[in-house]
Amino acid sequence: MDVENRIKELVDILNKYSKAYYIDNSPLVSDVEYDRLYKELEDLEKKYPEYVMEDSPTKTVGIKHNNKIKTITHEIPMYSLENSYSIEDIKEFYTRLYKLFGLNPEVTVEVKMDGAALSVTYDNGRLQQIVTRGDGKSGEDITNTAVIKNLPKKISYKGRLILRGEVIMPKVVFKQLNKIRGEMGQPLFANPRNAASGSLKLINIKEASSRELEMYIYGTAYCDEEFITHTASLDFCKENNLPVSQYLYVCSSISEVEQALKTIEDMRFSLPYDIDGAVIKVNNKDYQEEAGWTAKFPRWAIAYKYKAQQVSTKLLDVIFQV
Ligand code: NAD
Repeated sequence: MDVENRIKELVDILNKYSKAYYIDNSPLVSDVEYDRLYKELEDLEKKYPEYVMEDSPTKTVGIKHNNKIKTITHEIPMYSLENSYSIEDIKEFYTRLYKLFGLNPEVTVEVKMDGAALSVTYDNGRLQQIVTRGDGKSGEDITNTAVIKNLPKKISYKGRLILRGEVIMPKVVFKQLNKIRGEMGQPLFANPRNAASGSLKLINIKEASSRELEMYIYGTAYCDEEFITHTASLDFCKENNLPVSQYLYVCSSISEVEQALKTIEDMRFSLPYDIDGAVIKVNNKDYQEEAGWTAKFPRWAIAYKYKAQQVSTKLLDVIFQV
């Protein structure tokens, strides 16, 4: 097959897999298999930019929803993250930052929770809106259906605040949910990520609260207050009793980054929720602005993905539905 046709084929396959993953919450292949095909497409597009397609998944975040739920345009776009799989990639990223800023920038290393990204808005001290990431430009309004246990309805801050965070289902809740579903002959969820995502739109509030969803804020997209650093913005969230992950390390050199990545990897399986890696972010907000964004991800952050727990591409034997 020639290159142009292979690119078309990969775009079609990956878009089909993304629909199953993001919209139906029932992946057709493992993340490892998806990432392998994605990398093949990315490499081909780099080599043959003349064949890059408009609907290529390398150009878009997630996928557009086209169901009955009200769609809301994000005031500030929601981005994905550049992925890396080796410490060499992280060193390259850090070197890139060094060249840009002329110094070793302070970065944070945080757990990368394996859930679904949400945008949450507070205004006048009240929780106003919860929206899914969708395609990054607009997402689904789940304010009235999402039941998230640890997300306060009221906070003391009275200004406008737009947060980014990950909604997760704790591993123990996931196991119990699948056990009950199995006993009742209902289809099982593939993993806590799909279960969390599929639980956000339940109409039955009792059922929704039994899913015990939790959210962890990992950034502020907008606040009437200005913050000099990412960590200062998270401290502000903590002061407002908003749930923020406790696993964050501030590092000032690549060796400190390596150590933090190792610390997170070592604790990975003992955490109460799934993580699929760590995220490294430039801490200073002015430096973030200077590094900027691509159409898909910030240039001031990168995800370091740990090896997948199970490399199964045979997911088809389980049917996952809400
Ligand atoms: P991603 O999950 O690799 O990374 C971006 C996301 O990380 C953010 O949107 C956010 O939700 C999350 N995140 C968690 N902790 C964070 C933190 N501390 N700071 C910032 N963000 C944090 O990217 P994606 O675009 O959501 O998904 C792409 C991945 O999804 C692929 O690499 C693939 O593994 C998987 N996928 C799988 C299939 C499949 O069929 N199996 C299909 C599509 C996508």
